[in-house]
Amino acid sequence: MAYDFDLFVIGAGSGGVRAARFAAGFGAKVAVAESRYLGGTCVNVGCVPKKLLVYGAHVADELEQAAGFGWTLEEGHFDWGTLIANKNREIERLNGIYRNLLVNSGVTLLQGHARITGAHEVEVEGQRYSAEHILIATGGWPQVPDIPGKELAVTSNEAFYLKELPRRVLVVGGGYIAVEFAGIFQGLGADTTLLYRGDLFLRGFDGSVRTHLKEELQKRGMDLQFNADIQRIDQQDDGSLKATLKDGRELIADCVFYATGRRPMLDNLGLENTGVELDARGFIRVDEQYQTTEPSIIAIGDVIGRVQLTPVALAEGMAVARRLFKPEQYRAVDYQNIPTAVFSQPPIGTVGLTEEQALEAGHKVQIFESRFRAMKLTLTDIQEKTLMKLVVDVETDKVLGCHMVGPDAGEIIQGLGVALKAGATKQQFDETIGVHPTAAEEFVTMRTATR
Ligand code: FAD
Ligand code: NDP
Repeated sequence: MAYDFDLFVIGAGSGGVRAARFAAGFGAKVAVAESRYLGGTCVNVGCVPKKLLVYGAHVADELEQAAGFGWTLEEGHFDWGTLIANKNREIERLNGIYRNLLVNSGVTLLQGHARITGAHEVEVEGQRYSAEHILIATGGWPQVPDIPGKELAVTSNEAFYLKELPRRVLVVGGGYIAVEFAGIFQGLGADTTLLYRGDLFLRGFDGSVRTHLKEELQKRGMDLQFNADIQRIDQQDDGSLKATLKDGRELIADCVFYATGRRPMLDNLGLENTGVELDARGFIRVDEQYQTTEPSIIAIGDVIGRVQLTPVALAEGMAVARRLFKPEQYRAVDYQNIPTAVFSQPPIGTVGLTEEQALEAGHKVQIFESRFRAMKLTLTDIQEKTLMKLVVDVETDKVLGCHMVGPDAGEIIQGLGVALKAGATKQQFDETIGVHPTAAEEFVTMRTATR
């Protein structure tokens, strides 16, 4: 049977755009439907605007350090409206680039909500299209617990467009987004409280990293409330918000920001017209080649709930395009040793196993850990410490994990990701000549095991 398209992609986000462009490049006839914004979450309400706000918040650090280097500055003034307007302009520029990327690679771009009407059929704006393969790359959406007053809270989606910087913010959650946005609000001058339901935030990260970041955020004056959760939110007569905690305490703020995870975006997608099944957590169930339980339908990215990171969605998109249309170039995505950063202030960079994971996996480990005050701070009064940590397998000498909290951690950890993928040993780290004077050289000069 002749189909309108070889591949119909739903969602022009990180994964969908990558799959569509490469499939078209391999000669396939491809359509992409996008209901909201080109570039998806990452470009519009994720990685990119987040990093721009992080840069904005980081300026406060530079200003604080300036006096030590002889600079006398007039009292600074921060204008939220300018930052948001400039950020919006940059996002619009990127939207245009994504449009050109798709159109120039020969992809048919359809604007509107896509609904699957059959195993080989999708409807957009009343028009039906047939396709041999359908790729679901619809991403995720913020999830807020069902508490009274939840409509008074904002999520990352709205935070990027707030009219003004709130004076007092309560951030709820202990994952990437909560920690990053708490740093943004605090850095830009808001009184910031972070509430996390467990003992210590960033569950799943290395224990030393979690404790170190906690201490550094407290030094910066952030109010960290662990074992705390909100029971209800009420608006007060003066417009402020009152959050009543489960332990009965009441906190007053101008903004309550929820970052309590993301659900798969399946709204009105028409899965009931297909044999696509969901897993126990509600994400689309796929096999190792991203095949759903409906043979003609594939799914990648946040909607499969595996690793919710843009470079992972890109890699999955690439793998699908190759498998379908250039099988001789197909390579499975390697989910081992994915480097990642949390753009907190200070940031975290991490790759490989945490100490806890290594022990749990049965490795006998040696730990190399270093805490130091970065050279840049020695002419200032700032007492922030950088943490670097290596987890090494005693039997093979392989470096199993590298972890860092400190300036440029994301930039530094990328190169260490290559080293771990290549299976580098501690001896090879030791034999690598350092770049001096940098903080990064500490990763190749830690000689004595701390544990
Ligand atoms: P998305 O990028 O979400 O794209 C899905 C697209 O599908 C959207 O454009 C949506 O409008 C569209 N869509 C949905 N349903 C339909 C439909 N029925 N019809 C038509 N179109 C539809 N990752 C990092 O690696 N680094 C970071 O620093 C980082 N920061 C982040 C910060 C925040 C605040 C958030 C929320 C996420 C961040 N992420 C980061 C995660 C990253 O954004 C996601 O992992 C990535 O965007 C997932 O790509 P995707 O292709 O699966 O989905
Ligand atoms: P995460 O899953 O990372 O964190 C969710 C947090 O909310 C956890 O601390 C969780 O606690 C807590 N939580 C969940 N449910 C509730 C509840 N009902 N009440 C109170 N607390 C709750 O999600 P995020 O929203 O932070 O981010 C989503 C994903 O996006 C990340 O996992 C990451 O993959 C990606 N991302 C990546 C970034 C980067 O690369 N720099 C930046 C931002 C996002 P508990 O731990 O106890 O379960």
